[in-house]
Amino acid sequence: MQRNPLEFPITDLNSVGPQRAKMLRDEMGISTYGDLLLQFPSKHIDRSRIYFSHELTPEMPYVQLRGHILRFEEEGNGRKRRIIAHFSDGHGIVDLVWFNGLQYVKKSYHLLTEYIVFGKPSIFNGRWNIMHPEIERASSFNPSSIGLRPYYSVPEKLKRRGINSRLIQQLVDTVFRLLHNPLEETLPEYLIKEMHLMGRDEAIRTMHYPRSSEDLARATYRLKFEELFFIQLGILQYSRERNRRSSGHVFSRVGESFMDFYHHHLPFSLTEAQKRVIRDIRSDTQTGRQMNRLLQGDVGSGKTLVALMSMLLAKDNGCQACLMAPTEILAEQHLETFRTMLGDMNVHVELLTGSVKGRQRKQIYEQLATGEIDILIGTHAVIEDNVLFHNLGFVVIDEQHRFGVAQRAKMWGKNPTPPHILVMTATPIPRTLAMTVYGDLDVSIIDELPPGRKPVRTLHYFEGRRQELYNGLRKQISEGRQAYVVFPLIKDNDPTEYDPDSDTLLYDDNLQSAKRKSGAQKVDLQNLEDGFRQFLDAFPDLRLSKVHGQMKPAEKDAEMSRFVSGETQILLATTVIEVGVNVPNASVMVIMNAERFGLAQLHQLRGRVGRGADQSYCILVTGFKLSSDTRRRIQIMTETNDGFVIAEEDMRMRGPGDLEGTQQSGIPFDLHLANLARDGQLVSLSREVARRLVNADPEQSDPRHQSMWARLRKLRSQDVDWASIS
Ligand code: ADP
Ligand code: MG
Repeated sequence: MQRNPLEFPITDLNSVGPQRAKMLRDEMGISTYGDLLLQFPSKHIDRSRIYFSHELTPEMPYVQLRGHILRFEEEGNGRKRRIIAHFSDGHGIVDLVWFNGLQYVKKSYHLLTEYIVFGKPSIFNGRWNIMHPEIERASSFNPSSIGLRPYYSVPEKLKRRGINSRLIQQLVDTVFRLLHNPLEETLPEYLIKEMHLMGRDEAIRTMHYPRSSEDLARATYRLKFEELFFIQLGILQYSRERNRRSSGHVFSRVGESFMDFYHHHLPFSLTEAQKRVIRDIRSDTQTGRQMNRLLQGDVGSGKTLVALMSMLLAKDNGCQACLMAPTEILAEQHLETFRTMLGDMNVHVELLTGSVKGRQRKQIYEQLATGEIDILIGTHAVIEDNVLFHNLGFVVIDEQHRFGVAQRAKMWGKNPTPPHILVMTATPIPRTLAMTVYGDLDVSIIDELPPGRKPVRTLHYFEGRRQELYNGLRKQISEGRQAYVVFPLIKDNDPTEYDPDSDTLLYDDNLQSAKRKSGAQKVDLQNLEDGFRQFLDAFPDLRLSKVHGQMKPAEKDAEMSRFVSGETQILLATTVIEVGVNVPNASVMVIMNAERFGLAQLHQLRGRVGRGADQSYCILVTGFKLSSDTRRRIQIMTETNDGFVIAEEDMRMRGPGDLEGTQQSGIPFDLHLANLARDGQLVSLSREVARRLVNADPEQSDPRHQSMWARLRKLRSQDVDWASIS
């Protein structure tokens, strides 16, 4: 069989020696001819225009100048060593500067030769300069044949070694010349016609050399679609294979417990959204296939109740159920909620966490194995191998992003017929992202809060308004309410003192994450220890609690319970309290250094209040200097309480790769062209089309689809672990 030239290594190209090959591979991921062609230009530049030096302004992105080098000069030493060419175009002088490849520069460029110089102009010490410009002889420059010219982004590191956009362009040209056949089509011909897509060969060539911007847009559309389409095809195909393998419990009846609870124990009526989700789960569990459903609902929207009722459904159909929570505190709260709600009903609920030991633990193991326990609530302790069920039929995983995919898979293995899985998350995920990250999980959404809730009022205070803050707190507490105050750090200004339990991603206006800051740089953040002392001074008459992740679990729990029971009025903490804690009497959430928290986290923290019928407040305290991104985040928080709006904004501002839950998803977020935040419609479209094709050709036997399936198999073998996306 003839080898596919796209798989030839770039070292086969004359101008690529071992050193260049290594740099191209390490820094740009280019190892083959095919990789080169998929290295699309970051922009196209009109190179028919030549500027004069007196026309330059610092805003100009890239310009071309025509002239010659008057003299070379070397400056500095060591790593600062640089070479400067004083370049004149007859109207002024521009300094061309190189920090690297000095030998190469001296050897390649000469005085008295006329050059075309291309690069970004800037002003330094009152002189125009261009760093690492591209240079070619004016005699070989033909403006009429150039027009839109591709510009390839190359890391600065490579530019210093003479690998620049121009070189990439030459390599791409060479590869195109060496190819004798059109690039292989990956989508079915009829689909291309039907969707009016550009063919793959034409699209890839157009990306490099567009005839017009309309052409470029069509080519981009086609390739983005292809990229998203194959992700969706992989996900759907994988889920089809899995469905074929795994049958599920059939919950054919709505029985006694469910009905008894619904009619006699439910203290309020279900919201329409809760009813809808329960219906979704009902119909999933009647199909004979295993359910995998994601339940998204804002904090306080009543997901726990949905979980409880689903578990009763399991009991009525002869199955046990298990609820897994991310922390002991949460597991205990769930146990209490369940027991209170179930009252005298004949449902056996038990708790299994790391703290349950000895005889008690052994008894739980036994009662699980005999089927005496109907519902087990616990932390990750429930997935340990020695926890064996009699007949596990339903699993609820609360606050999903704290659990890895592998842990979820372990729950499947706990029963010969895998249990139905309901994943609940209070961090809303934009719809298009959920479609990709949670792949084949079906999604239900609770988009309605229980009646009578007053939306939390969110206010922004600058740090200078401390006294006002204290007065506000005092007023709420005098009315019998309680308050949370959250700090980004435990102690002093040492960035290592982040709370190990809180996995906070702290924002920095210059760096993505303050966690990465070196100790030498001072971080000016409020911390819990100092804050606690300040609050003791300000509220000598009140009782305060302090909680953070470096405390012993027992100590932490004890302190938490003091607050839950109302013994203490203010709880000062790090973000350990972010997840799930339910104290309806708490009406104020103060967040110190709110500028350092992401939108999702701010929203989670705010969700701790507003659980009772009283007006609640969230106070975002920040320093005076705020970046525009930070101001935007604060503004969004003060304007909306809608978790889905916040999630969309979060994705828009941060990009999808940073969102909670996406890291372990296995999805390649460094997509070449498509962007899950901006290309939402295309994500939906690609999903629809992929679903149609998977359904139309379940055996992968349609001859028109052969190159498509081949492409999918290749992608699977290459970069994506589809099995981990579930
Ligand atoms: P979350 O979705 O954050 O897990 P919970 O299930 O903890 O929310 O519910 C928050 C509060 O709302 C609980 O106190 C719960 O009892 C109450 N609740 C749930 N559903 C309803 C409803 N339909 N009507 C009134 N209150 C409800
Ligand atoms: Mg909850």
